Amino acid sequence: MLNHPENENPDSQQEEQHSFPVTAESRALVLVVEDNPQMARMIAATLAPLYRVITACDGQDGLEQTLALHPDLILCDVSMPRMSGEQLVTMLRAQPDFDDVPIVVLSGRTDEQLRIQLLRAGAQDYLIKPFNREELRLRVANLLVMRQVRQVLQREVTVQSRDLVTLASKVTLQQRELTQALSLLREREARVQDQAKELEVRGRQLERANKALTTRNRQLDHMQSRLRAIVDTSQDAMLFLTPDGIPAEVNTRFTDFFGIDASTVLSQPADHLTALLKAQFAAEVSLDEALAWSTTDQERIFGTQQVQMEPTRREFELFSLPVLNLDQTYIGRLYVWRDVTHEREVDRMKSEFVCLASHELRTPLTSIKGYVDLILTDETVGELTELQREFLGIAQNNARRLMKITNDLLDLSRMESGKMELHRKPLNVNLLIHKLIPSFQPGWDAKRQKFTLHLPEEAPMVLGDAEGVMQILSNLLSNAHKYTLEEGHIDLSVETVGPVAWISVTDSGIGLSTEEQAQLFTRFYRAHNTATEAVGGTGLGLVITRSMVEMQGGEMQVSSEPGHGSTFRFTLPLAESLGGS
Ligand code: ADP
Repeated sequence: MLNHPENENPDSQQEEQHSFPVTAESRALVLVVEDNPQMARMIAATLAPLYRVITACDGQDGLEQTLALHPDLILCDVSMPRMSGEQLVTMLRAQPDFDDVPIVVLSGRTDEQLRIQLLRAGAQDYLIKPFNREELRLRVANLLVMRQVRQVLQREVTVQSRDLVTLASKVTLQQRELTQALSLLREREARVQDQAKELEVRGRQLERANKALTTRNRQLDHMQSRLRAIVDTSQDAMLFLTPDGIPAEVNTRFTDFFGIDASTVLSQPADHLTALLKAQFAAEVSLDEALAWSTTDQERIFGTQQVQMEPTRREFELFSLPVLNLDQTYIGRLYVWRDVTHEREVDRMKSEFVCLASHELRTPLTSIKGYVDLILTDETVGELTELQREFLGIAQNNARRLMKITNDLLDLSRMESGKMELHRKPLNVNLLIHKLIPSFQPGWDAKRQKFTLHLPEEAPMVLGDAEGVMQILSNLLSNAHKYTLEEGHIDLSVETVGPVAWISVTDSGIGLSTEEQAQLFTRFYRAHNTATEAVGGTGLGLVITRSMVEMQGGEMQVSSEPGHGSTFRFTLPLAESLGGS
């Protein structure tokens, strides 16, 4: 029932004051719970132009419709059959789904206590019957607007709280990442600090090493200067070639001898240097080969003779030796030219003097020896006493010895001064040996030595000077006889090997130590042993023998062991291999 239905124009007023949505679907749903049908109709009529309105006849019906249709606002009477307004409010507020649905209590003026209770139970507003229709509309509209605002706010809050959650999880994630990055950073920082410390230590070490290096460099500089001074003051010319044959160093003597300045040859190809030197030397080929060939050889030391013709005549001994680093790597070759012009000149003069002296000595000596022999053998000279015979015997022995020395000296000096002439022709070695042996037989017999000859069936023809070959064989057989004890063995063998004939004299004599063998070919050398001291000798025989062998294009070798005998062997070129000429 309305209080003043007559002064109301609900439609026009509502449209002016509330711009609520009016489409059928979007209009709010209002539930009117009223047991008075007249009142319910009036309320429905008042609100119907603006809202969708449904009605319930009591609290129970109101609850069911609320649960089924979920109204946006409930207008609820207080006293009703079956379920009162208070019960309905209490039940709805107990359900979370409906706690935001505004409930407006419709009460009589006398229900004040009840009204307060309902407000406590959760009703939002109340209207005291009878009420103005406009008030009804306004209160409903206000509550719906408030609810809508609350819903919008709620949604906003939900969205924002969702954003906040997302943000919070992002922040958490970023925080975690930051923490990780931070710990990584700390680790790095620790590492950097460690590295900085290590760098500092290394820096100090480097500084020390640098200082040591500077000192070492200074020492090396000094050493280099000292070495340079020594090398420059040397009497020998020196040249250092790298393994590729590039001249790397020359000393001042090199410039003095060859007139070649260091700057013209250093770091230039070896050919350039060879060309400059070639013009000055007699034996061009040997110089060429000596320089070029030997840089590839990392081991051997070799020596050769060279004669410089221009600008001054000089005789050189050229030595070349490999130079190795401390770690034994090959770094090049050193060539040393020793000026032996003066030594050679003195040698020649000495040889000439010895040659002359021995030649001059030989005539009176031959005479002395001849007369002593005559006195001892010729009966016409007269009877000799025992003492005279003994003394003359001593004189004869010494004259022979002197004769031997003189002859050896003469031979040697002739060889050295190049005055000995050899007449080389094809020789039958077997024949020569057979000719020689008879003169040794008495000596071997006297010492009961066993001589064995090993000759090839086909006698080799060698190219040599007959007298020279005889002298070589005589010297070796004589030594074998002298330095072999009684009943020892002496063997002479001949064999052909390639282009040469090897002739060996082997004895079972006293032998020679390695040190003695090293000195065998030194003039006047005689080994210190009783056997050597017991027999006469000059210490020149082997020197002459070897020179004689070499002059005939052969070579000589010795192998020996103390107490086990010796073998002296030499070669002579086969005549056929040289074309029989
Ligand atoms: P020598 O006139 O003294 O024999 P050589 O030059 O012929 O001079 O020999 C030099 C030295 O070599 C000898 O004095 C001797 O000590 C040693 N010698 C030479 N031949 C032999 C040999 N067959 N066995 C042992 N020693 C030898």
